[in-house]
Amino acid sequence: MTDSLLATEPQLRLIVFLGVLVAMAIWELAAPRRRQEIPRVIRWTNNLGLVVIDTIVLRLSFPVLAVGLAVLAQDRGWGLFNVIEMPGWVAVLVSIIVLDLVIYLQHVMFHAVPALWRLHRMHHADLEFDVTTGLRFHPVEILLSMGIKLAVVMALGPPAVAVLIFEVLLNATAMFNHSNVRMPRIADRVLRLIVVTPDMHRVHHSIRPEETNSNFGFNFPWWDRLLGTYKTQPKAGHEAMSIGIEQFRTTRDLWLDRMLIQPVKGPASGYPINRETRKKS
Ligand SMILES: [Zn+2]
Ligand SMILES: [Zn+2]
Repeated sequence: MTDSLLATEPQLRLIVFLGVLVAMAIWELAAPRRRQEIPRVIRWTNNLGLVVIDTIVLRLSFPVLAVGLAVLAQDRGWGLFNVIEMPGWVAVLVSIIVLDLVIYLQHVMFHAVPALWRLHRMHHADLEFDVTTGLRFHPVEILLSMGIKLAVVMALGPPAVAVLIFEVLLNATAMFNHSNVRMPRIADRVLRLIVVTPDMHRVHHSIRPEETNSNFGFNFPWWDRLLGTYKTQPKAGHEAMSIGIEQFRTTRDLWLDRMLIQPVKGPASGYPINRETRKKS
């Protein structure tokens, strides 16, 4: 069972990735939420080019990734869930929820620590907000994120299938909740009870620091509500709000080479912990 899981993982991930990407792209063309000023060809080629780099760097850097490690942990009896007895479906459900909470906390940490913000701000420096924004992460952030996930898998010992479901789900919801799609307000309200919607996550891509530092969730919307980081709508409204951060606001900054060096360019200024420095300057 676990062997076949590992064998089908790459195909499953690729099919879901391409399927959701194409579906959201069609939805964006048919019913866009905001008018996009920057030609799609510039952002899409560079954002998708980054996905290729991220995938290669990740594969080359770790001998085993999250699902593989969960299989290994199951075989060797590592981690909490491989020691205590519980029904399989409970272990799957709890694992997915715990992994999502960890990703939420990790996201807050990347905003709070200046050196980590330097890496994560590249995700925020996209000047538009669409399906490819959801794939735009610096390779070093991807590596750190995988390291954290591997540590959680070691400690928790989740069923491998739960890790696979979580990873596929996270990839799909990240593309969904970054997309530039219009949907009826009632649909957004209902969906927000179970999943982060594009209108909810767009608030997180606002140029205003107090909005950037809200709505950290990727899959489930509950953590923001429970832990006090939830903002319903952007102050300026979805159509008028400015997307991005105060640094890196030219079209040239959207190119792959510039994106990769953004972490070492300029001060870490702007957002969370060192906000005071920003006020002084
Ligand atoms: Zn963020
Ligand atoms: Zn985002």
